[in-house]
Amino acid sequence: MILPGMSKATFTGNFTQQEPIPDAAIDAAVAVMRSGRLHRYNTAPGEDGEVSHLEEEFAAFTDAKYCLAVASGGYAMGAALRAVDVGPGDKVLTNGFTLAPVPGAIAAVNAEPVFVEVTESLTIDLDDLAAKAATSGAKVLLLSHMRGHLCDMDRLMEICDAARIIVIEDCAHTMGGAWRGVPSGRHGLIGCYSTQTYKHLNSGEGGLLVTDDDIVMAKAIMLSGSYMLFGRHRAAPPVDTFEKVKYVTPNVSGRMDNLRAAILRPQLADLPAQVARWNALYRTMEEGMRNTPGLQVIERPEEESIVGSSIQILLPQANPDQVATVVKSCGARGVELKWFGAPEPVAFTSRYDSWRYAPAQQLPKTDAILAGLLDMRLPLTFSVEDAALIAEIIRDEVLSLHSQTAAE
Ligand SMILES: *Cc1c(COP(=O)(O)O)cnc(C)c1O
Repeated sequence: MILPGMSKATFTGNFTQQEPIPDAAIDAAVAVMRSGRLHRYNTAPGEDGEVSHLEEEFAAFTDAKYCLAVASGGYAMGAALRAVDVGPGDKVLTNGFTLAPVPGAIAAVNAEPVFVEVTESLTIDLDDLAAKAATSGAKVLLLSHMRGHLCDMDRLMEICDAARIIVIEDCAHTMGGAWRGVPSGRHGLIGCYSTQTYKHLNSGEGGLLVTDDDIVMAKAIMLSGSYMLFGRHRAAPPVDTFEKVKYVTPNVSGRMDNLRAAILRPQLADLPAQVARWNALYRTMEEGMRNTPGLQVIERPEEESIVGSSIQILLPQANPDQVATVVKSCGARGVELKWFGAPEPVAFTSRYDSWRYAPAQQLPKTDAILAGLLDMRLPLTFSVEDAALIAEIIRDEVLSLHSQTAAE
């Protein structure tokens, strides 16, 4: 929207405003509250409960045998690490470019993150991964599809299978995405998802874990706090599987409740339509910014089915002052950009060198990329026209910086 009296177009939308919860989800939530049966195992005779249904539906959505709904995405990652027996002092490979809950999940089991470099496509550097798979001693990779970017998953699995490294996927930003038609979260042994407000389904807090592995799912269910009621799960392995794990797996309570599941089920049914809406915003922004001198869009490979709920750009030639100038001038025009190269973390932009509980590590390639990396959420409350305007503002501000530098 161009406000009167302003010489330059300004955007007035809110980058953290999500859509309301759909009416069908509100009705389902109210029905759960009226029943009083909010705990997942507090079901009436003959009733399976909202959580069990959500698990079945999400397993079908991801084409997984089993699914467990939990309290958060971070909890799902922690349970996944415990379920594959990661313990104190173990090394776990993970992305140098990711969000704080990922190294946090590793630290929560007293293991040590070993960070892998990022590429200009914002995916894990597979050469660095292969090198560290060979030398680090890690038996697990907690792979984060950060900001929705999927690496060449076929090659990643080849590297990890050859090195006998278990892959756990953090799909907080790729729920609904796929690589070569395989849903994100289904290449590795375990896929973890978040249903926190800023992700692709919104229950405030929440997480999901999927796997085809009987023992992994039996352990995850025990860990989540099943009080020996594992027989009530539907997207779960046969009950005799639990004989092997039920006395040796601790209860680390982190169940999902029926209220959250009730809110999520109608949203899950809508997800493909929402993905199409996100991608319309994303492609509009991408087109609007492509071919801008000094600005690099992240080209997406054909094999990747994206969910464009956020967009990233690189200013590869800009120095820190220039990047800061772009952030500031876009901000003055209502466009809130997050900068992963800023000296101090702001909101979600903390980086591997901000996580000082982990041993200090050098990632020169990642440093160089994050120095020019800008990020923006694309909430569905934005219209395609909004996306076009935002792209125009960013393009304008990068171009004006570029012409100033050219004139110097
Ligand atoms: C949000 C997020 C998580 C974890 O989600 P929570 O539900 O907040 O614990 C994991 N990984 C990434 C990359 C995230 O952005």
